[in-house]
Amino acid sequence: MDTWLLTHASGVRLGAFFGIFAVMAAWEVAAPRRALQESKRVRWASNLALTVLNSDLLRILFPVAAVGVAAFAGERGTGLFNIFAVPYPLAVALSLLALDLAIYLQHLMFHAVPVLWRVHRMHHADLDFDVTTGARFHPIEMILSMLIKFAVILVLGPPVLAVLVFEVLLNATAMFNHSNVRIPQALDRTLRWLVVTPDMHRVHHSIDAPECNSNFGFNLPWWDRLFGTYRAQPAAGHERMIIGIRQFRSHRDLWLDRMLLEPFRGQTGSYPINRQPEAR
Ligand SMILES: [Zn+2]
Ligand SMILES: [Zn+2]
Repeated sequence: MDTWLLTHASGVRLGAFFGIFAVMAAWEVAAPRRALQESKRVRWASNLALTVLNSDLLRILFPVAAVGVAAFAGERGTGLFNIFAVPYPLAVALSLLALDLAIYLQHLMFHAVPVLWRVHRMHHADLDFDVTTGARFHPIEMILSMLIKFAVILVLGPPVLAVLVFEVLLNATAMFNHSNVRIPQALDRTLRWLVVTPDMHRVHHSIDAPECNSNFGFNLPWWDRLFGTYRAQPAAGHERMIIGIRQFRSHRDLWLDRMLLEPFRGQTGSYPINRQPEAR
């Protein structure tokens, strides 16, 4: 099975991406949560061009990808699940949990360490919040994330299947929880116990620093509740809250060239843990 997974991993990931993207984009048109503030044409062109750039870059830099590292760990017998015999379904489930916790902690770290916030803040600088925001990460953050994921896989030794399922799930939930879709409140309250919903993650994109420093989860909503970083709703309400960061707020900042330069602009001190207004 591993050989099949390794050969078809990129096809599975790509197919899931296009399928879920199409569903979320249609849902946003049918039942939007907020009125968009900016031209969709510029934002979508930039965010989608960045998505293509990132996926090409990762493919070139890391041709074996995360599934390849999991297979390598399996062959070498390195990593917890390759050393201790655990029933396969349990190893898959525990690996999914552990990988999700790692992503949560990594996200926390990207907010807490100034130089990492410089790289991550481009994700927060989007002035609207929709399905394309879910793929708006700086290439440096994509590379660092991949290296961290490789390290976690080498320590964990997860089944190849768990890694592929995790990557597809993370991609799917990122598009879902960034989408500008209206979900009835009662349903949202229930869903939030299982998965991070758009209303939950939107709080994380608030211009307000304490709100921006909450709801770090991407897949499972439990880590935020467990570690005390959960915030139910934005103070200003979902329709009126301001999306983005103080630093990059012009229309021109939504162009890809400016987005790519954002880690290198402005003061190092302007990061969200301290609540100082961010100087340009
Ligand atoms: Zn963040
Ligand atoms: Zn986000």
